[in-house]
Amino acid sequence: MSLTLDRPDLLRQQAYIDGAWLGAEAVMPVEDPATGEMIGSVPALDGTHAEQAVAAAQAALAAWRARTAGERGAILHRWSDLMRTHQEDLARIMTREQGKPLAEARGEVAYAASFLTWFAEEARRSYGDVIPGHGADKRLMVTREPIGVVAAITPWNFPLAMITRKAGPALAAGCTMIVKPSELTPFSALALALLAEEAGVPAGVLNIVTGPARGIGDVLVSHPAIAKLSFTGSTAVGKMLAGRAMDTVKRVSLELGGNAPFLVFDDADVDAAVDGAIASKFRNAGQTCVCANRFLVQAGIYDAFVSKLAERVKALRVGNGFAQSVEVGPLINAAALEKVTRHVVDALARGGRLLAGGNVVEGAGQFYAPTLIADVPASALFCREETFGPLAGIVRFETEAEAVAMANETRSGLAAYLFTRDLSRSYRVSEALEYGMIGLNTGLISTEVAPFGGVKESGFGREGSRYGMDEYLNMKLVCTAVS
Ligand code: ADP
Repeated sequence: MSLTLDRPDLLRQQAYIDGAWLGAEAVMPVEDPATGEMIGSVPALDGTHAEQAVAAAQAALAAWRARTAGERGAILHRWSDLMRTHQEDLARIMTREQGKPLAEARGEVAYAASFLTWFAEEARRSYGDVIPGHGADKRLMVTREPIGVVAAITPWNFPLAMITRKAGPALAAGCTMIVKPSELTPFSALALALLAEEAGVPAGVLNIVTGPARGIGDVLVSHPAIAKLSFTGSTAVGKMLAGRAMDTVKRVSLELGGNAPFLVFDDADVDAAVDGAIASKFRNAGQTCVCANRFLVQAGIYDAFVSKLAERVKALRVGNGFAQSVEVGPLINAAALEKVTRHVVDALARGGRLLAGGNVVEGAGQFYAPTLIADVPASALFCREETFGPLAGIVRFETEAEAVAMANETRSGLAAYLFTRDLSRSYRVSEALEYGMIGLNTGLISTEVAPFGGVKESGFGREGSRYGMDEYLNMKLVCTAVS
């Protein structure tokens, strides 16, 4: 199947360094996860190319940070407008390389563009402080300056939004940037770079380096000219990269894996809870770091919730993201399919009751049937590891204290969900949950206007919102003695 685009030039098979499009003899193929077909290839660049990108970002920094925030904001506004103009093409590229249903891909394009708009506006609001002096002759002024050259390493599950969520605030603050997109979804990143170029982002301010993670990553975590590393991806890789970044004492933001509990109390609105469960669990085929990973359901509402959820899960349409009304696309690769399979087999071996799915879909591509398993003990593998796939496993609980203890029984702390109509309980439980984000009576929590990020081993730093700018700014104190 060929990819039909209004602007075929948005599908770029070259990397973007210092405002130039760069090919290479060595290339990496990119596959369509729905068919296994090869879509095209991108340059397999190495550490030397990464160093060139760092040099370009370094060279571009002085002029970029010297522009007014209003000027930088105007370019970001144009960039986000271009994303909206080319929403359909960007969505098609994304569905082709990542697999998510086209409607979700369109939604991600809009979501990704919203970060550029938001930070275009925030650019002008990186206010400092004037602090009352500590002596009669002292004046204290705090300004906020761009950190400098930033490296971003981004994952495949949101190929556009995970880049704009970093590039928006970085460029707004006056930083320059090198992005290493996931090798599984580089085409979205490259299309974004072309639109950045058209919006007027100067050469060297944004660089996209494609290729194997190791060689490029080694430069990005160790190069002394890089002041900041922003990483979104797996906990294991994030820990390793953050440790290495400390050798040169870089600022670091980490958005790592989650293990989101989804708590349903007896006093919940069961239909709202089922809607929230479907939205939170099956979006992007379960491949988001805030997807509900384990459902904890109180005994009194258990049967009603499970039977309503089963009907909905059975009705989900699985298939190629380009097909009409498909709701669940393929998983990203064979390893993802294997992990879901392992979690399902484990849950069933522990006495789980299979109510929907439970199998790999035969044929080309990496599809797993949306799956619901009830009556699983909390010792199941999916309660301890992030599944990152379309498995909803349900554990029963009796008391609020028991549910909170189970919910916090993890080293992760990204998102948690709870459904209740009791006001006091909603406060008590929200406060007791050791997570960076709580969805209270909703399964969808992401927006550019609110801070996104975790606690515990899910990472630190916040993206989006006014706090997202802080990650790319250093404070500077000027302490003046006035004679
Ligand atoms: P996921 O499970 O989401 O694929 P990864 O942590 O493997 O998570 O990938 C997230 C990003 O980290 C991708 O861009 C990937 O290429 C990159 N990455 C993986 N391993 C390394 C590494 N050793 N050095 C630098 N980047 C890496």
